[in-house]
Amino acid sequence: MKIPILHLEEGYHHFSGVIKGGSLNFYRNEVYPRDLSVEVDLNKFEKNISCQISISTLAHYQCDRCLAEYDRNFSERLDILFHVGPQEIETDEDEVVSISPDLKEIDITLYIEECLIVSIPMKLLCKESCKGICAGCGADLNTENCKCAETPHDSRWDKLMEIKKSNRK
Ligand SMILES: [Zn+2]
Ligand SMILES: [Zn+2]
Repeated sequence: MKIPILHLEEGYHHFSGVIKGGSLNFYRNEVYPRDLSVEVDLNKFEKNISCQISISTLAHYQCDRCLAEYDRNFSERLDILFHVGPQEIETDEDEVVSISPDLKEIDITLYIEECLIVSIPMKLLCKESCKGICAGCGADLNTENCKCAETPHDSRWDKLMEIKKSNRK
């Protein structure tokens, strides 16, 4: 997504756009298969273009515990200050990007991709109380009961189960 800046007057501007689902050239397309809507609030003043970029979509995750796939609303905001000329200003909050005075448009796609990647939660759970899958019988404990106790115990398999368990670690 590109923002035309060449003849942009000073002051506030708004841009909105849609990035087609799966069209981004990055490796987590499976998490963001739907269209992304992007809203940009831009303020141009002196040699600065301050951008507040809001990204929203429906993200697609897989639960770490039970492996169920689920969707969640995703929205993130990203603040970037584009500064014309060599970087010489400092701010606490915004990322500052130095741009050339004859740049015609700013491509914000890269920043959006970066934001999407770092926003994937470290821990993915379909619900906080997800019980996961039993390592013994493979039952999805959210919907079924563990069957481990039901199977009559056959000690001849103990050695094999031990090997299986140690391989899993
Ligand atoms: Zn789960
Ligand atoms: Zn079980």
